[in-house]
Amino acid sequence: MSSRRLIVMKFGGTSVGNAERIRQCAEIVGRAARQDRIVVVVSAMAGVTDLIFKTIDAARHGDTAATKLNLEKFEAVHRELIEQLFTGDHAAAARIFTAEVFAQLHSACQALSALRSDISAQTADSLVALGERISAWALARFLQQSGASAEFVRAEEVIATDGTFGNAAPDLERTQQNCARVLSPLLEREVVPVVAGYSGANAQGKTTTLGRGGSDYSATILGAAAGADEVWIWTDVDGVLTADPRICPDAVTLPEISFAEAIELAYYGAKVIHPKAAYPAMNAGFPVWIKNSFRPEVAGTKITQAARPANSPVKSVTSVKDATLITLVTRRDVHPVELWGRLFLRLGQEQIEVLFATQSSPEHALGLVLRKEDAAKVLKLIHVIFRIELAQGVLNPVEVNDQIAVIAVLGESMKGTCGILGRVFSAVARREVSVIAVAQGASELSICFAVPAAHGAEVVRAVHEEFCGAGATNIPVCLRPTLAATTGAQ
Ligand code: ADP
Ligand code: ASP
Ligand code: MG
Repeated sequence: MSSRRLIVMKFGGTSVGNAERIRQCAEIVGRAARQDRIVVVVSAMAGVTDLIFKTIDAARHGDTAATKLNLEKFEAVHRELIEQLFTGDHAAAARIFTAEVFAQLHSACQALSALRSDISAQTADSLVALGERISAWALARFLQQSGASAEFVRAEEVIATDGTFGNAAPDLERTQQNCARVLSPLLEREVVPVVAGYSGANAQGKTTTLGRGGSDYSATILGAAAGADEVWIWTDVDGVLTADPRICPDAVTLPEISFAEAIELAYYGAKVIHPKAAYPAMNAGFPVWIKNSFRPEVAGTKITQAARPANSPVKSVTSVKDATLITLVTRRDVHPVELWGRLFLRLGQEQIEVLFATQSSPEHALGLVLRKEDAAKVLKLIHVIFRIELAQGVLNPVEVNDQIAVIAVLGESMKGTCGILGRVFSAVARREVSVIAVAQGASELSICFAVPAAHGAEVVRAVHEEFCGAGATNIPVCLRPTLAATTGAQ
């Protein structure tokens, strides 16, 4: 066993977005490999996975012009990359490798166009994983061309999953065995394994994917399975910020957050880390760092079990900008809880995530706040489960508001701090925005509320300014008199 630390490094889409970025990744890996043992996980180049999804969609609808255009774009992006990165034998090998991937996507699209059939989830996964196959291969080969010892590893060789195509769950025991068989011998020879992110394989060896943005999850799964000391997620911002910098340009980097905060943050829209990525790290007990590949000298954010509290009880303000509120109201003479129980059971079976729910007993009403993309499926389910109740008027016609945004105000130190809710809603009221629904979890880790979608960004900015802005006063309201008394202030 080596005494050197084992670090899994994941590079996101923008970090491998072009030849210059890949050179930068290689430099980061090369420098780190002088001190530590490194396993690299790579995302597809920015926009490539979306492009594959679009291509498949065009093909299955028989839109040959769009399919052709998208295939050409997919090829052009990667051709440009390899032309700018490689020389000599490496360039020739890159042409052969990418031509095989292009051919796989091309022939699958041809078959889909001809059949005009719905694509199976299994086939879709085998295709949407192709972006990572090329980018990881390219980084591994570029490291070799630069004189470093590196080897491309297909995700299917190491990440073992169940058979839930599109949203697979890892099988840690099999992944551990794979790591021992595939990664350990490379690490012993001081070779850097470069693994394709996002995908894995089921027990039959078929390609599966871990859900959109899943390369972060690949990294922490591998970290847990290979016994890593740390996982570093390289992205395009300095770390986890107090808000999405695209909404709040004055957002600042948080030096530390807890796993619980990271999970909550990701669930409510902060794309900087995948919602499931914290779990393997939390269970295995290693920290995850979020770092900026454009500014590697910046420390970044450490995600750990128990993070130091920040100045503000609110650490971050996030939002899901496309959400839907479904309201169900029963007749007054029925007991609604049994109906809601049936509905939640079904939502669980279908693995649908509810952003938050509110229940008002006197009104016999249930409000379900969902991601917009899940709403149509849930409405269909409601009409199936409650077909009789709707027909008999036990349940009123379903109300749908698909123009809402969900705002989440997060931070572990909110627990036990008085006055947070008051400050949040005063900030919203000053913007003259009405709040449609509210929930505060029993853990007091987050406060979620829904506002009209058109005001989502404005409300994030207002709440961020209140707690995290330059002029924010963060003495908890209930402590003020005590502080005033001890300092003798009037
Ligand atoms: P990658 O391609 O590296 O995986 P993502 O696009 O998935 O990167 O995630 C990084 C992006 O997350 C940032 O560019 C930023 O716009 C967005 N983001 C949203 N909320 C936050 C937040 N609270 N802190 C940092 N980044 C955030
Ligand atoms: N390329 C995949 C996606 O866009 C996975 C990732 O980037 O993490 O969803
Ligand atoms: Mg991401």
